[in-house]
Amino acid sequence: MYKLRLLCQLQHSCIRGLPPHRFLASAHKRRPQLGAVQSDQLEQLKSEYFVRSEALSNAEWQHVRSVLSGRNKYISAHNVDAVILGMCASGEQLPLAKSYLRYLETSEIEPNAATLGRLLRVYHSAHQLRMLSDKEQSEIMQICDRLQGSHEILDASSCENLIYGLVATTEHWQRAVHFLQMMKVTSTPTVSAYSAVAAKAFTCSQPELAWRLLEEMLEQRKLPKCEVYVAQLESSARDVAGFALQVDRLLHFLGKHNILITDKVAQQLLNLAQQMPQQLQVTSTHLERLGKCAACQQHLEHVAISEAEFASLRDAFLDKVLIRNDIFQKSTPAEVERFKRYVEQTAPYDCVIDGLNVAYSTGNKKPPPQLAQLLATVVRYFKERRKRVLVLGRQHMRSWSKPAMQYIQSNACVFLTSNISQDDPFLLYATLHSGQDTDFFSRDLMRSHAFLLGNELKSTFRRWQQEHQYSLATQTQPMGKIVVKEPIRYLLSTHKLDKGVWHVPCIESYTANPSDRFEVPQRWLCVKLAATN
Ligand SMILES: [Zn+2]
Repeated sequence: MYKLRLLCQLQHSCIRGLPPHRFLASAHKRRPQLGAVQSDQLEQLKSEYFVRSEALSNAEWQHVRSVLSGRNKYISAHNVDAVILGMCASGEQLPLAKSYLRYLETSEIEPNAATLGRLLRVYHSAHQLRMLSDKEQSEIMQICDRLQGSHEILDASSCENLIYGLVATTEHWQRAVHFLQMMKVTSTPTVSAYSAVAAKAFTCSQPELAWRLLEEMLEQRKLPKCEVYVAQLESSARDVAGFALQVDRLLHFLGKHNILITDKVAQQLLNLAQQMPQQLQVTSTHLERLGKCAACQQHLEHVAISEAEFASLRDAFLDKVLIRNDIFQKSTPAEVERFKRYVEQTAPYDCVIDGLNVAYSTGNKKPPPQLAQLLATVVRYFKERRKRVLVLGRQHMRSWSKPAMQYIQSNACVFLTSNISQDDPFLLYATLHSGQDTDFFSRDLMRSHAFLLGNELKSTFRRWQQEHQYSLATQTQPMGKIVVKEPIRYLLSTHKLDKGVWHVPCIESYTANPSDRFEVPQRWLCVKLAATN
């Protein structure tokens, strides 16, 4: 509703003959860059004025302002105040930042939206160190009202600043949800803005709001920051009776979305286990061979998907994704038909090999005889294991070294497409069509195909991919043996085993874009919760 209303306002402003951006606060989107200031000059200013956390005199501020704005081409009268507040951004420097605002008032300089937004961020940093006083919280509200009152619609950057300010208050933080909505008018809320509101919602016992925001983030492929999970755990710990149930909900969520926790969240779980040993037991652990937990000695669950899941994945791929979305667009219909007929006649296979991908996996500058030899070596790897393989390739591979190509053709089914075709659709078609036990060989991470399946089937696809994807790890030089990376057959995401024991994979620190590769995390938590029913 709100979004619609704002859009109407935007349209209305256009009708009145004013471009909508005139109504947006702080029209400059770029934050002032300090890197542009000469570093020695900046260091001098910092050590002289910004290491202190108390107020500066008006004369000192005037000096700082004139040094920064007068001698650097990137700092103008328009952004110098925001630059200065950016230089006192840590929580301890709140008194310093406030003293700068007093100086501006005394000098009758009106702070712009960017400057006030920066100040809200300093309040937010202070809030991360300690609880803000009532007076400080009412100062935040005054700034928020001032910003909101001065513009009909705020741009995303101002909304974000307001969110940081509001979540530092006890009474008014829920207004931040309204600004998350407002951000959507001009952009998508950032990970930080979402995480700040969700964490606050957990802290203030509004878990349903928090979970809703987290689900919304993940729909947009934004990974929540660890502060959210820390807040969820802290808040859960306040209710001893419901604690195990809340942790259980968090672990289910992590598993569903394949999220690894950071060391910070892991430490929080370990601390809580010490405080509440009746409710929670946590051991830091690692996996031994074949996915056995070094702590409880249980094997992690097999990654395989059920027959029904496989059937829905195959149908979705073959019907909706590959055919209707016309992924074969670079091929001719005749070629696709020829391929489908070939698969009907020669399937099932144990493994489908992306020939070109394999040949180029140790570099694409190699001479054709080496490329062909590498592919032949991979075919031999499966031949020795009595596997029936299909090699997909391109027409131009016919000109590769004769002995190697002859070996491939006499030990595998081979289908060559035109030189402009894309290989993945053919590979996935043949593999899925061939049945639930069929593997494939390629380095490609298949990201775009997983994405096309939508959220529901994506995790099924990823599990199927993890169970069935082979790739070439390395080749000993020159032209030596190959090392094949075999699929990891156990689950790499958070999941519960027998006796109510959870296994939770960890990473060192937060990353917004974790790798899609299937790698076994070095550190895990072995978590036992009190019965939750
Ligand atoms: Zn264990």
